[in-house]
Parts: sequence; structure tokens; C-alpha cells
Amino acid sequence: MQMENENQTLPGFMRWQELTSLVGSIKTRSLVARPKTIEQCREALSYCRQHNMTICVRGAGRGYGDIALNDGHALLDMSSMNRILGFDEQSAQITVEAGTRIIDIYQMVHHRLLTLHASPTESHSSVAGAICANVNGKDAWHHGSFSHQIVRLTLLLASGEAISIDRSHELFNAVVGGIGLLGVIVDATLQLHPVLSPYVEINRFPATDVDALLATMAEIEKSHDALVVWVDAYASASRAGRSVIHAARWVESCETEQQRRKILEAGYKRLEDHRRFGLALHERFGPILSLMLHIQRPILNVFNRLYYAMGQILYRMKRFSNTELFLRFGFEASFTVPPAHLVCGPRGYTVQLTFPRTGAREAIVELMEICRSSPCPPVTSILRAHKPDDCLISFSEDGYSLNFEFHPKKRHEAASREAVDRLIDATVRRGGKVHLAKDQVLTPEQFYRVYPRYRELLEIKQRLDPDGLFTSDLARRVGIDPVLNKQRPE
Ligand SMILES: Cc1cc2nc3c(=O)[nH]c(=O)nc-3n(C[C@H](O)[C@H](O)[C@H](O)COP(=O)(O)OP(=O)(O)OC[C@H]3O[C@@H](n4cnc5c(N)ncnc54)[C@H](O)[C@@H]3O)c2cc1C
Repeated sequence: MQMENENQTLPGFMRWQELTSLVGSIKTRSLVARPKTIEQCREALSYCRQHNMTICVRGAGRGYGDIALNDGHALLDMSSMNRILGFDEQSAQITVEAGTRIIDIYQMVHHRLLTLHASPTESHSSVAGAICANVNGKDAWHHGSFSHQIVRLTLLLASGEAISIDRSHELFNAVVGGIGLLGVIVDATLQLHPVLSPYVEINRFPATDVDALLATMAEIEKSHDALVVWVDAYASASRAGRSVIHAARWVESCETEQQRRKILEAGYKRLEDHRRFGLALHERFGPILSLMLHIQRPILNVFNRLYYAMGQILYRMKRFSNTELFLRFGFEASFTVPPAHLVCGPRGYTVQLTFPRTGAREAIVELMEICRSSPCPPVTSILRAHKPDDCLISFSEDGYSLNFEFHPKKRHEAASREAVDRLIDATVRRGGKVHLAKDQVLTPEQFYRVYPRYRELLEIKQRLDPDGLFTSDLARRVGIDPVLNKQRPE
């Protein structure tokens, strides 16, 4: 009732709402503005300034933790600014509004044999969300992070002024990966790349331990275009790093554009059906899944052993290859794997950690040992390869990342949290990084060590947003809220 009364006095596109993080463990209440134009963005900024509120800009809300939440303050939800503004086939560049989703871009260009590198598995992520979290795809070691795909963007500053930022602009490396702290991205132009066809050949290579894994990766990184590695977090110490590598490379095919359109339309429909089916299934049977995960050690132990054994048998029988639409390889995992809040459960965590190539063997062994010694090892463990970029807050580096999803039982809550902290500490000690889009636990001390260039980001912020209009729950938690930061340790 109180919320209804408050809503009556607001501009039409603003409403108080309750929101939770994707995993569901963080609950917030915010004044949500859904602008359709840059003018409405300005109106929302000025409303918040007048009412002494801060703003967190939100894309599709597909980050796992509190990166796009702002409890008690405002959210600028950009999902309604989702038009494709221009497409130049000659230069293969596309200009879109901030809230346009990755899958919308595919629908516009993929039948013309173009692709967008660094697309995250979550194809419903918005372009601006992908820019601000500087996301990575399964091709990250090859084509880099999302930052490498950007030609230019428009940033609406706290002052209401809109500026154009291209790759040579002094603000480029601060805004990209800058978790929305410098202003509102209104639109962006992205560079697309030609491909042979919409199909990839997928090869699956089993690796018996970490040495086999790294040796196979070194070969695959030269011969393939994208890869993702399923790692067995339950394997014994002597088999740490036991895994199945899924590697893809673009292949030729001979359809006409008309035929490709049809094939891809069916592909998009299939993705959407999977998404709906996955959500419905897991909404209905989520509690059963949760119950099964109460005996997760034996269940996942058996599942992982079978998965690896199957990979090995198929490899020996030379049946480790198939050809399918890139759409499936690139995006389907997020639709067939249960939604994050069910994979992780109400007390769960997702964490993605990068570590340098030098010392990668020791890092993988140590991280897997921490997982194995936890009473609830992760439900999923995924490895990727990366290459560095120049962003001030950049998760990417010349190395690998491991992504873990934990689904702890109530009595193991503290132990699981401890395991996540140990994983982060080990990563920090090894010169690695923590992906902010998937984080919900990083402390200021850990953040300052992982991202020492945060000081440069804050100096720029002081210039562009001296009153600290743009912030988020994550910024407050990791100690880079400009107001709180005045008291930060030197
Ligand atoms: C199933 C699943 C799979 C995933 N796979 C991957 C993966 O493969 N690789 C990867 O890197 N990530 C992955 N992610 C994470 C996800 O892609 C990122 O969190 C991405 O940033 C989400 O985009 P979004 O539009 O939802 O952004 P949000 O979560 O809404 O926001 C992310 C950040 O961008 C800022 N922001 C958003 N829009 C604007 C704007 N217009 N102006 C200024 N700031 C803005 C927000 O303030 C916030 O800091 C996955 C997530 C899920 C759920």
C-alpha cells in the first residue's frame, strides 16, 4: 500500500519495486525507471538528483550477484531502449541501443554470415551490460573480451551531457569494464566478423589430468575457434584437472541466404523453446533438484565419472565430432542448464576466477583441491582460455579461468562460503582476478588487490560524477562507492 501511494506521485516510467539477485539470495527494493529515450534518461537523473538518490544503471539483470542492484535507491532499467539503429554491411558494423540483447544482434546479422565475437553464454545479456562487465565468450583467448568488439559508444554523463567515445578516447578503457560507474551507455557500435557458415564442427577431447588438459588446450587453441572445458571437481588428487574439452571451429556449408534464414529461424525458436522448457521444468521440479543435490557428493561423483568415461569411449571409437549450429554451441548451455537460482540454490555461489598461464598447472591443482576438500564441492566447474585487454577493471588476462557453481546445504553454508573465500584468496595470491558479473562475496581488501587500477577509475569518476550519482550495491560492497571511498584505507 505504501509502495502504491509512493508510485502515484512519480513520472509514468518510474515505479518502486522489489528485486532479487539472479541467484535469489540478495533482496532489494528500488525506484525503477524504464526510459525509452535519452530524454527520459535525463529526466530520471534529474529526479534522482533532486531527491538525493543514487542510480545504478541496469541492463537485462543477468549478472549473478549485486552488480546491477541499488537497494533503497534508483535503478535505470535500460531494457526498453533496445532498437537496432543502423547496420553497415560493408564495414560489418552494427549500431544498437544499450538494452539490445546479444541474441537480437544474431537475429539481425547471422544469416548474412556475420558473428559477434566474445558473446557470453547468456544471450539475453544486453550490449551495455556486456560492455560494462567486459564479458567474455568461449572464443576469449582468440578474439579477446567484449572490449575488443566495440567501435564506439555514447555515454550520458551525470551532468546530462552525452559524449561519443571511440577506441582512442581517453575514457574508453575506464567505461568498458567500468561496471556502470561513469554514466549511462545509451548506444554502441560493434564490429562484427565474417564466418564460413552458421555451423561449427564440435570436437570433444577427454583429458585424464591437468597435464593432459593443458597439453591438449595448447593444441586446440591453435586449431579451433572456440572452446569450453567441463572439469571434474570430484576427481581424486592424482587426477586433478580430469576433464572433457569441447572445441569448435567454423565450417563451410552451401545453403543460400534464404535457406540459412529458415535454418536459423528454427534455431532461434529452438533456443527460446529450450529456455521456456528449462525454466518451466526447473520451476516445477526445482525442489526435487534441490533435494537430489542434498546427496550431491555421491550423485555428482557418479555423474562426473560417467561423463568422463563416455567422453573417453567416444574418443576411442573416433565418434567425438559432430556439426551443429554455432547458436547451440554458443548459447544453449544457459538454456539447458537449470536457471542460476536452482543450480546454486538460495544459499549458493557462482564465482569465476582467472589466473595467468604461467603457473596455470599449480593454480588448477590448488583450486580443484580447495573444491574437493569442501563438504559440498561445486555442482559445475568450467574452464576457459583468455587474452588480456587494457581496461582499468579487467577480468581478462593471458591465462585461464575456472567458473564454479556451488549449491550448499544449509548445514554446509559456512563451509561453502569458506571454500569460496579460499578460492578467491588463492586466485589473488597467484595474481589472478575475480569476474565481477558473477561475484557476490568479494571484500574491499580482495578487490583492491585484484584491481589496483581502481584508483584511476575513481579519479576519472571524481571528474565526471563528482557527486557520486552512479553507484551500485556491488560498488558499495567492494569499497569503491565514491562517498564511502573518502574513508578508504590508503
Ligand atoms: C546463464 C548465464 C551465463 C553467463 N555466461 C557468461 C559468459 O559466458 N561470459 C561472461 O563474461 N558472463 C556471463 N554471464 C554473465 C552476464 O553475461 C553478464 O553479467 C552481463 O553483464 C549481463 O548483462 P546484463 O545486460 O544483464 O547486465 P546487468 O547485469 O544488468 O548489468 C551489468 C553491469 O553493467 C552496467 N550497465 C548495464 N547497462 C548499462 C548502461 N546502459 N549504462 C551503464 N551501465 C550499464 C550495470 O550497472 C552493471 O554494472 C552469464 C550469466 C548467466 C546468467
